Amino acid sequence: MRLLIKNGRVIDPSSGTDDTLDLLIEKGKIVEIKAKIETKGVKVIDASNLVVAPGFIDMHVHLREPGQEDKETIFTGALAAAKGGFTSIACMSNTDPVNDNRGLTEYILSEAKKKAVVNIFPIASITKGQRGEELTDMADLVDAGAVAFSDDGCSVENSQIMRRALEYSKLIDTLIIEHCEDKNLSREGVMHEGYYSYLYGLKGIPASSEETMVSRDTILAERAGATIHIAHLSVKGAVDIVKKAKKNKIKVTAEVTPHHLFLADSYLKSYDTSLKVNPPLRSKEDVQALIQAVKEGVVDIFATDHAPHTPDEKDVEFDKAPFGINGLETAISLFLDKLVNKNIISLKKFIKMISTTPALILGLENKGKICVGADADLTILNLHKEIVVDINTFKSKGRNNPFHGWKLRGTPAMTIVGGKIVYPFSSSKN
Ligand SMILES: [Zn+2]
Repeated sequence: MRLLIKNGRVIDPSSGTDDTLDLLIEKGKIVEIKAKIETKGVKVIDASNLVVAPGFIDMHVHLREPGQEDKETIFTGALAAAKGGFTSIACMSNTDPVNDNRGLTEYILSEAKKKAVVNIFPIASITKGQRGEELTDMADLVDAGAVAFSDDGCSVENSQIMRRALEYSKLIDTLIIEHCEDKNLSREGVMHEGYYSYLYGLKGIPASSEETMVSRDTILAERAGATIHIAHLSVKGAVDIVKKAKKNKIKVTAEVTPHHLFLADSYLKSYDTSLKVNPPLRSKEDVQALIQAVKEGVVDIFATDHAPHTPDEKDVEFDKAPFGINGLETAISLFLDKLVNKNIISLKKFIKMISTTPALILGLENKGKICVGADADLTILNLHKEIVVDINTFKSKGRNNPFHGWKLRGTPAMTIVGGKIVYPFSSSKN
C-alpha cells in the first residue's frame, strides 16, 4: 500500500530537518520527501498541525513471554507500544525460561512476526539463566537476532565474568546493557534509603548500590575498550560517574525512565505498590540531577523499563509486591508535558533521545531517521491534545502505573510501522 502523509511538521534530528513536508511511503519504505507531493492512488493522511517524527524506540521493555503470559504477552505488549507511540521495542531477557539461547531468541522473533504490530528486538542474557556464572554463546545469539545482552533485573555480580562479557562484546561488536545494582547493598530494600524510608518504616536501597556498579562497569568497559549501556540511571552519584567517564572518552551510554524523572521517594507516603520499582524512586536531589543530566546530554536516551504485573500481584503489602512500573502507554505524554512543554528540552532533542539515538545504540541502520530509503516507521504527535491517564484503557495487561489521573498535554496521534498504520487501531482488529 502507498501512503502519503501531507502537511506535517517533519522533524528528523539525524538530518536537522524541521519543516512542513509531505512524505510518500511505498513498500514499507520512505520513497519521497518534499514540500508538495501530488500523486494518485494513495491513501492520504492529513498531518496538518501534527508532528511527524521517526518512529520511537524503547530499548527497555519486559514482555514476559514466554512464561508469564498472565502479566503480558508479545501481542499485548506490542499493542501497548503502538498505542504509546513506539514503533520498535527491545525486550529484556528475564522471561521464564530466560532468553539465553538461540531457540528462545528465534521463538520470540517468530511469535513477534505473527502477533506483534510493532518491531520486536530481543535482548539476550549475558549469562546462562541470568545466574551470573557462565557466559551465553553471544555470537550464536547475535546470529539468531539478539540486538544486545543484559541480565536486567540483576547485575552481573562477578567482575571477572563481566570483564569477559565486555571483552567478548567488543570482539563481536555487540552491546552490553547493565542493570547496575549491588545486591549485597540493596538486600531486602524496597525503596530509596534516606529520610523517607525511615519516616515510612520501609527498608532502604542505598544510592551506593547503583553507584558502585556503575563505577565498576565503566572501569571494566574502559579496560576492555568496549561499549556499555547503563540502564535506568537513578541517582546523582551515578550521573556524576557517567559524566566523568564520558569526559574520559569511555564508551558509555545511559538511559533514564519517566518515573525516575517525574516521581520521587516522598510519593511513597501512599504505600501505593505501583510506585515500587527497581531501582527505586529516589530523592528530590537525585531527580534534579537526572533532569540536569538530560539537559547536558549525560543521559543519552529515554526508556520506559515497562514492567507489567497482574493486579493480584501488586495488590499486597508494599514489602511483598514485585518491583515494576507499566510504562509504555504513558511515557510519551509525560515527556512532552513535563520536559518539552516546560522548555526543559526542545522537541527535536526529545525525538533524538527517543528515536535517533536508541537506533544508533542498538545499531538499527534504517530506523530512527526520516530520509529516502529509511524504514517507514513513523510516530505522529499531537502536541496540543490534553489527555487524562486512565489505566483502565491500557492495551497492556498490567495496570501498575502510578500516573493514573494525571492530566498531560501532548500525545501520540498515529503510529506507522513499515508503512502500515498500527495505531489508531482499526476496529476490525480490536
Ligand atoms: Zn533493570
